[in-house]
Amino acid sequence: MQNPFENALSQLRRADAVHKFPEAFMKQISNPMREIRISIPVVMDDGRTEVFEGYRVEHNNARGPFKGGIRYHHDTDIYEVKALALWMALKCAVANIPMGGGKGGITVDPRTLSKSELEKLSRGWVRGLADVLGPKKDVPAPDVNTTPEIMSWMNDEFMKITGETTGATFTGKPLDKGGSEGRTPATGYGGYYVFQAIAPKYNLPLSCKVVIQGFGNVGSYAAEIFAKNGHKIIAVSDSRGGIMNPEGIDIPALMDYHKQNKKITDFPGTSSMTNNELLNIECDVLIPAALENQITSENAGKINTKIILELANGPTTPEADDILFGKGIPVIPDILANSGGVTVSTYEWEQNLKGEHWSEADVLTRMNNEISAEANAIYDRAGVAKTDLRRAAFILAMERISKAMGY
Ligand code: NAD
Repeated sequence: MQNPFENALSQLRRADAVHKFPEAFMKQISNPMREIRISIPVVMDDGRTEVFEGYRVEHNNARGPFKGGIRYHHDTDIYEVKALALWMALKCAVANIPMGGGKGGITVDPRTLSKSELEKLSRGWVRGLADVLGPKKDVPAPDVNTTPEIMSWMNDEFMKITGETTGATFTGKPLDKGGSEGRTPATGYGGYYVFQAIAPKYNLPLSCKVVIQGFGNVGSYAAEIFAKNGHKIIAVSDSRGGIMNPEGIDIPALMDYHKQNKKITDFPGTSSMTNNELLNIECDVLIPAALENQITSENAGKINTKIILELANGPTTPEADDILFGKGIPVIPDILANSGGVTVSTYEWEQNLKGEHWSEADVLTRMNNEISAEANAIYDRAGVAKTDLRRAAFILAMERISKAMGY
């Protein structure tokens, strides 16, 4: 697999080639301010002690506290977390929220743990990192395989260790533990708001055929809101494979089926396919919503969509970007398209600090207004600089961060 941190650095250099930034800034933004590895011992249910490797990378805090999710995955390593932390710094700047960028993770397949082992592991991650976390220092959130329940265990552990009482150190908490209305669907819904702002600039049908890779938090809520707004979801997948119905999949029924069966395969009325086949289906909108490095130089030539909306982080490699550009397929980049999640996380942090609770309608309307304005600004910027949407988004973010750093 390509090193995602190398991909992220390559994207920085490509933006710098279009809009020259000071050399000293480029050196600083290419390196995380701090990267931490910890060992987390967990006494397993059978009495054995296992030691897991955990990470926190704090990339840049010029615009505010470090902010970014925690990933639990068997392939997670320090390079992946470094890439995700750099993208978070850029994303928070694109979203124009008062946050810097960081990311965390644990190398673990959480499906192999019991609930009590998962809780001990999550609390252990906090114990190892409590010194560097805090509402004004570093504010983690959920990512792949980390749920509101995990965030509430982490928040509880942090409050016990430090005596902190606002609950603003972890976002993505359940509603009854200080979470924000609208946080769970925020990334998927935010992706739709960005699409809605940008789609009229391209010649897309009113009812698009949509293909989604990944049916977790982000992919399922994206499917829900696209379907609600008259688009047809013709194929979706998860790590076990994909399902298709050219007439459109019944998304509310699939969400229920997924909740009950913990899988989407064998959903009635659909045919099955591999994840590779799914990416090549002819459609209007292709939404990668799983992991990085999915659209590569190997398969980009076969992609048959009118536009790509990147809801996963880093799903497209720089080489694939060039191939897609050559084919005239615009890519709405991750640091814009999936910024709805961190935007609402920041609202959660703000509500916790102020002791407020905002309604879902207020949260989603505010997020839609902010994210749509940035989407339009990036589209215009790409036109002026005669470049693609990714470089335009990077340039906007790098300008905001470099200004905050005093360049
Ligand atoms: P999740 O754990 O809820 O879901 C991940 C989904 O991807 C699952 O359906 C899983 O089965 C599927 N998947 C894993 N490997 C796959 C593969 N090889 N092919 C197809 N599907 C595969 O995670 P999530 O929170 O939905 O995150 C998905 C992506 O969105 C990640 O890249 C994450 O960094 C990004 N993201 C998440 C948020 C958020 O708020 N949760 C915010 C911004 C970006």
